Amino acid sequence: MGINYLFLDMNSYFASVEQQLRPELRGKPVAVVPMLAETTCCIAASYEAKRFGVKTGTLVHDARLLCPRLEIVEARPKEYIRIHHQILQAVDSVLPIEAVLSIDEMVCRLMGREKVPTEALRLGEQVKQAIYRQVGLQMRCSVGLGPNRFLAKIAAEMHKPDGLTLLQLSDLPHRVYPLTLRDLPGIGPSMEQRLLQHGVTTVEQFYQLSLLQLAQVWGSRVHGFAWWHRLRGTDLPEAPTRRRSLSHSHVLPPVFRSETGARSVLSRLVHRAAARLRHEGYWTGSVALFVRFLDNSQKRKWDARIRIQPSQDTLTLLRTTLRLWQQKPEGTPFKVGVALGSLTPSSELSWPLFDQDQKLVHLARAMDKANRKYGPQAVYFAGMHRTEQSAVTRIAFNRIPDLDLPDI
Ligand SMILES: [Mg+2]
Repeated sequence: MGINYLFLDMNSYFASVEQQLRPELRGKPVAVVPMLAETTCCIAASYEAKRFGVKTGTLVHDARLLCPRLEIVEARPKEYIRIHHQILQAVDSVLPIEAVLSIDEMVCRLMGREKVPTEALRLGEQVKQAIYRQVGLQMRCSVGLGPNRFLAKIAAEMHKPDGLTLLQLSDLPHRVYPLTLRDLPGIGPSMEQRLLQHGVTTVEQFYQLSLLQLAQVWGSRVHGFAWWHRLRGTDLPEAPTRRRSLSHSHVLPPVFRSETGARSVLSRLVHRAAARLRHEGYWTGSVALFVRFLDNSQKRKWDARIRIQPSQDTLTLLRTTLRLWQQKPEGTPFKVGVALGSLTPSSELSWPLFDQDQKLVHLARAMDKANRKYGPQAVYFAGMHRTEQSAVTRIAFNRIPDLDLPDI
């Protein structure tokens, strides 16, 4: 078995884009924030800022205390998407990309001679050079090479920033031992808890679990099997990823912190979530509404969920959300969010649904088309009027907005 994968992770992505586009920020501690407010938190920090302890999730207020000279920059999601596409092009000029995993992560599969370690390292260097040349010198990345995706990602994590790391079968398992359980991709807080309950606290102990013990920890023979092989570098086929929910939320600017203001922002979020749902080819079976209130500096949360017939049209989702909205308690809304759950891909849905539903779906698709053709705000439901400045494009690390999807 050779080196099958090249994993690429951009370093401090949003902050690096800002330093690339704004030369005056280069070499300086930079934090990117979703909006300019002391109550928000950093969504990215440059390496210069990380040295002061500023990281993703640090509150702006705390970040300023840690690093008084910190440059605080408002996020420009559209630029991050534009540069993301430039990076894809640069990588693709060296190797075909097998999967884009997030706005700053992608993976390539190596073939034939490319799997030879020296050749894989050469390609890794070429990918980095292509990004520097075609996108810019501020765009540093960590490249990991490994026998499977899991180990290639671990290799990429091992040296940041600007790493190029090879993890071969002969390096296993000792080179992975110094990592913590949470450093392993796929081990989140709940899996870590489960491992702790089974007396596993280190990666070394994790490696010593048998197939049977792994199956017991995961409560599934299939998962136990997959983990046993993943740790040992087997290149198992990836399970197709399937979305389980889709959500959008927004912290309300002060001017929208009222009953009507919040409701109109919420309508816009529903509109956007519904457009994404159709774009990705899913139907939703439940709608959840989240509201956070701001009363006497205390933050109070409220949420409600309702099951519905599989739907994907904006009007049904809007009506359902507004029905939930009427149940919410009194208070000054501070943040609103909507989550569509129980998603089913169109391909698994029995078709046709009721006549009335079909008409609504056709209407929604016609609106999507008009918005694509005439601009994001060409057609929308009346409830959203005048909120267009409020809900800015947001980027989560785990999904990349499509440029042709209405930014509403
Ligand atoms: Mg990254």
